[in-house]
Amino acid sequence: MLKHENTSSAGSSEGSFKGVVDGSAEGSLILRVKDVSVHYGMVQALRGVSFDLPKGKIVTLVGANGAGKTTMLRAISGLVRVSGGSIEHRGHIISNRQPHEIVRRRICQSPEGRGIFLNLSVEENLDLGAWAAPDKLAYKINLERGFEMFPRLKERRRQNAGTLSGGEQQMLAIARALMGQPEVLLLDEPSLGLAPQIIEKIFEIVEQINRDGMTILLVEQNALQALGIAHHGVVLETGRVVLQGPSRELLASDEVRKAYLGE
Ligand code: ATP
Repeated sequence: MLKHENTSSAGSSEGSFKGVVDGSAEGSLILRVKDVSVHYGMVQALRGVSFDLPKGKIVTLVGANGAGKTTMLRAISGLVRVSGGSIEHRGHIISNRQPHEIVRRRICQSPEGRGIFLNLSVEENLDLGAWAAPDKLAYKINLERGFEMFPRLKERRRQNAGTLSGGEQQMLAIARALMGQPEVLLLDEPSLGLAPQIIEKIFEIVEQINRDGMTILLVEQNALQALGIAHHGVVLETGRVVLQGPSRELLASDEVRKAYLGE
């Protein structure tokens, strides 16, 4: 069932998936975002945003430029302060904690723009992703698993990351986040600036990582494709959740396709 958010009641917990999402029983919730607001000085970027991330699912936050998608991920990662509401990880409030504490909880972000170190080699970038991994002994296994998933990175492991193509850099950003052995992967605009064929490939990889058991929060402007692989979608508009529900229902709704998916 799709949930239209009543903007006048933004700030209530109405918008959460509770009772809407299949398999979202309390015990299987990894993240719960409740009434979250974020301000940048006088600018309010998020206004009472609520949604849940159930274990093993892909939830996608979609919306136009400036809707607040990146801000939501940065709030979860501890990179911006939450001015209202709360973010819970397995029932513990984690809002306004330091980013390193969030990473230690195995919530790892692959940031918009990828944030990789262009002057370091592919392998050195991957090493950096492993600093907070709880099991250091698993480093080699994780590295090999990463290379199995991204054979291009293996071929180029000693090359500077700056010499990689845009798609390869995106793969590196995802592989680096996976080196932290995350329980939750936060992906910010993985399709940004890539050619359609590469975008397709990146979405296939994200889907595969999820099939292997990873819980994923995916931020995308590319709403149609993101909803195509996600279990649930949350539509943001100027900092508010305007609609959320199962992706297939969002995709099937004429109103949604016209208003939010650019059709
Ligand atoms: P995009 O896809 O363009 O990144 P977005 O949905 O991720 O868009 P945000 O980057 O979260 O949106 O921005 C939400 C709002 O907050 C926008 O109005 C933006 O201008 C504002 N904003 C973002 N970062 C800052 C900042 N550091 N200082 C002031 N305002 C900011």
